[in-house]
Amino acid sequence: GRKFFVGGNWKCNGTTEEVKKIVSLLNAADVPSPDVVEVVVSPPYVFLPVVKSSLRPEFHVAAQNCWVKKGGAYTGEISAEMLVNLDIPWVILGHSERRAILAESNEFVGDKVAYALAQGLKVIACIGETLEQREAGSTVDVVAAQTKAIAEKISDWSNVVLAYEPVWAIGTGKVASPAQAQEVSWFSFIYSINSWSKLTYVFHISNQKNDIMMIFGAATLKWLQTNVSPQVAASTRIIYGGSVNGGNCKELAAKPDVDGFLVGGASLKPEFIDIIKSAE
Ligand code: 13P
Repeated sequence: GRKFFVGGNWKCNGTTEEVKKIVSLLNAADVPSPDVVEVVVSPPYVFLPVVKSSLRPEFHVAAQNCWVKKGGAYTGEISAEMLVNLDIPWVILGHSERRAILAESNEFVGDKVAYALAQGLKVIACIGETLEQREAGSTVDVVAAQTKAIAEKISDWSNVVLAYEPVWAIGTGKVASPAQAQEVSWFSFIYSINSWSKLTYVFHISNQKNDIMMIFGAATLKWLQTNVSPQVAASTRIIYGGSVNGGNCKELAAKPDVDGFLVGGASLKPEFIDIIKSAE
């Protein structure tokens, strides 16, 4: 079985005091057992050691990035070897903010994933399309190209969690407005995807503010099935990221193909506990 996975990506946030508060909150929380949910929080590098040493032992930590190869004369970088040396088990790679702002290419991300895995790290590999790409109807191609660039460099997927994070859903609180959802192109896109794969499904979530409509990781699942193997597709966890919060997590978690979440903003707040609990 694919154990539910809840990752908290703190991004570039936090002070020593805030970090202490979040750790206390997590340590005191009444959450499902580690047999039910795997919890991994990802503080900025400088807080990794303190979070690792003060966090309850069943929760794990992830770095938010690492260098693409062996360390050396790469000012400002942190190598995979250093993370291993500090007993940091996980690393997030290919986050859309690094792809977009730091210009990380698909190939670069693929190389990073391969190198980190080879050093013994577990990897949360992020993929997802931008709003422009979605509107141009190229979601499937974009996600496939991102996944392919990883698949070409690795053969063992057992230490990989794929995080499907549509860029337009990150930090926005919305996925598609009702108006957008009604666009003919959007519906025809869903329609074509649906007929393309049985595994695909579309679901609709309402929260107080927005109607959220998304195609969840289906392109990725299909791609893995066809291009890697049905076994890898069946065993690799594909988690969702983008405006997950205490209010929408339950409905999302109930979907059979949602293997967990990568949470940004809400992972810094008490509602992160509710998101962990949604695993049950
Ligand atoms: P938000 O949950 O803030 O939308 O961020 C998602 C994300 O980027 C997690 O990696």
